[in-house]
Amino acid sequence: MVQGSCLCGAVRFTAKAMSGIVECHCSMCRKAAGGASGAFFVALRKDVTWQGAEHLTAYRSSAELERAFCSRCGTAMTGANLVEPDDTIILAANALDGNPPGRVIAQEHAASKATWFEGHDEAPSFDGPYPGWEKLRP
Ligand SMILES: [Zn+2]
Ligand SMILES: [Zn+2]
Repeated sequence: MVQGSCLCGAVRFTAKAMSGIVECHCSMCRKAAGGASGAFFVALRKDVTWQGAEHLTAYRSSAELERAFCSRCGTAMTGANLVEPDDTIILAANALDGNPPGRVIAQEHAASKATWFEGHDEAPSFDGPYPGWEKLRP
């Protein structure tokens, strides 16, 4: 069982199974997912159950595609799905809870990668909060 929820908990989904995760570096997915990239997977619509779906708001990011997010907290809950749906739905990996079985299998639109993310792998990492926040200035 695959479970996901938004930050405020108003919207939840469960899916019976998930595909591998595709990470998208395009600028639309970065903005929609609120990060350096978007990460999405596919589930079968008939196997997905929603709770609090009335809190979802959809934004049509291009003519045939729309994305849904929690209208209370802004968490991206779906990827860019066809307005005329097929039997699959693209769900947002940022909403996943627990330890889902899926892993990243591909990255797309790599040429659009955020330049500000360069250096990420070399940046120091802390198990707790970054101790430099209070002294951080531009
Ligand atoms: Zn929410
Ligand atoms: Zn994208």
